[in-house]
Amino acid sequence: MSVIPYESLERLSWDEAYDAIVEARRRAMGNVFEGARRVLCVQPHPDDTEIAVGGTVAWMRGRGVEVAYVTMTDGCMGTSDPMLYPEKLAEVRKREQEEAAKILGVDRLIWMNYRDSELSVSLEARGKLITIIREFKPDIVVTVDPWLTYEVHPDHIATGILAAEASMFSGLVHINPQDLRSGLTPHRVKFIAFYWSRKPNTYVDVSRYVDVKLEAISAHRSQFPGENLDRFLETIKAYMKFMGKRLGVEYAEPFKILPVGSLHCDIFAEDI
Ligand SMILES: [Zn+2]
Repeated sequence: MSVIPYESLERLSWDEAYDAIVEARRRAMGNVFEGARRVLCVQPHPDDTEIAVGGTVAWMRGRGVEVAYVTMTDGCMGTSDPMLYPEKLAEVRKREQEEAAKILGVDRLIWMNYRDSELSVSLEARGKLITIIREFKPDIVVTVDPWLTYEVHPDHIATGILAAEASMFSGLVHINPQDLRSGLTPHRVKFIAFYWSRKPNTYVDVSRYVDVKLEAISAHRSQFPGENLDRFLETIKAYMKFMGKRLGVEYAEPFKILPVGSLHCDIFAEDI
């Protein structure tokens, strides 16, 4: 597990060795987006990807990286308007997501259509995600961090867990055997990249993509009635600016990135 030979650690205390290993592993990982060819974004609702990492998506599309979205729920609960019925809102949000994805250059959208606010971690949902991963063969899966402290929205928690489980299991031949019977092969996802994380370890320079990101967020009109949009965009911009300071650039988006192998029994994963 360690990238440092034991001989160079044996004089250190455990705490010092831990820090040295974490540091070396973080450095060895680098910016994994640089080498990606296909990236799968698994989001709880229409709009999460644009809000959290729309700049990174635009940057990747600009470099010719294939990007696909999986939206786990239909977003039908995202309103305070009692006259906007869930079924109608789900349709509206689908169109808004299509428009936002087009602005960022993403043309492949996959809808899971679970009902907003009711997603749970299930074998059925995991199996569907594994099939999608084996079809699309992403190097990186981008999703929401399900371990965000105090996060209580079930769709966000379940999406992060499901995306992580599917990334871990898609390489195992005996899981979802029906995939193999239909001609798919196991696929190993190399990295998982979580957004809205308390423990970011990677920052992507999105200074050139701020405008297109904000335009894509603005496509989700149903989510920002009245003057809410301008205030929200200012907040997003300010946050990206703070993240930019950590990288020494104008605007950045933060991620917690882990090798998929670290999603199981890796005592260093929290701090990498
Ligand atoms: Zn959401």
